[in-house]
Amino acid sequence: MEYSPKIMQDNLDRNNFKFKKNFGQNFIIDKNVIDNIISKSGVDSDTLVIEIGPGAGSLSAGIASKCGNLVCFEIDKTLKPILEENLKEFNNIEIIFEDFLTADVNEVIKKYNYKKIYVIANLPYYITTPIITKIIEKKINVDKVVVMVQKEVGDRFKANPGSKDYSSLSIFLKYYFDVFKILDVSRNVFMPKPNVDSIVVEFVKTKTKFDVKNEEFFFKLVRDSFTQKRKTLRNNLKAYDLDKISEVLAKYNFDLSVRAEQLPIGIFIDIANTLC
Ligand code: SAM
Repeated sequence: MEYSPKIMQDNLDRNNFKFKKNFGQNFIIDKNVIDNIISKSGVDSDTLVIEIGPGAGSLSAGIASKCGNLVCFEIDKTLKPILEENLKEFNNIEIIFEDFLTADVNEVIKKYNYKKIYVIANLPYYITTPIITKIIEKKINVDKVVVMVQKEVGDRFKANPGSKDYSSLSIFLKYYFDVFKILDVSRNVFMPKPNVDSIVVEFVKTKTKFDVKNEEFFFKLVRDSFTQKRKTLRNNLKAYDLDKISEVLAKYNFDLSVRAEQLPIGIFIDIANTLC
């Protein structure tokens, strides 16, 4: 597949394709950026790759030429003829025309047997957080996630306690992954051109072993702690044993008037392990 705004536009025009803003459609048209993402991801023939939103297939073609198998989830069925044309030289790609958020991804990838599973995607910006949350909550067993996202969203993934972007997702991400920024990407390499620049971030399965007695309980406690972000733990955790929580917080010089956004993962783990 060739890369230039003109070639891409001709190809899309031939199929009467109209970009859909509500699907976050900004397609990459720069081969250097694509090559850079793929080489930095370290994908090889021992890797099964899941791509969310192949669009016209420019990133998919690059991935498929390096990986074992590629499974794509695309919500927009009008892209079918375009993808079939652009990816016709590959026999290691499965395209599923479904919403990634509702698809049974674990069932789909069950039939593949690979040492490594990566997610690589230029994410539709309007559902970046739900996609990452789904990967975590559905326990899709990925070793690495390499995603292009809007710059400020990428910064959010690395948020620390005390920052306005710190949320339950920051804690879940920390539990599973180490997060790295791998590339800055200018808005000029997309068609149509978005209003903001992007970055590529990488989540690598963490080697840190957190000592959590009951994962489900820990996740629920974290989620409940952030129910109303501006409220204190005393308010958000009314249904829990507040005396015990208070005792744990005292060890770290906090009390029940603290807000969840001020607490690091270790304190949540201590509270969860004390309560169950
Ligand atoms: N990968 C292509 C590229 O880089 O040129 C397209 C990236 S574009 C930012 C996002 C893609 O995600 C679009 O093709 C869009 O139709 C698709 N998409 C949007 N919402 C989706 C969803 N819920 N599930 C699967 N694909 C989705």
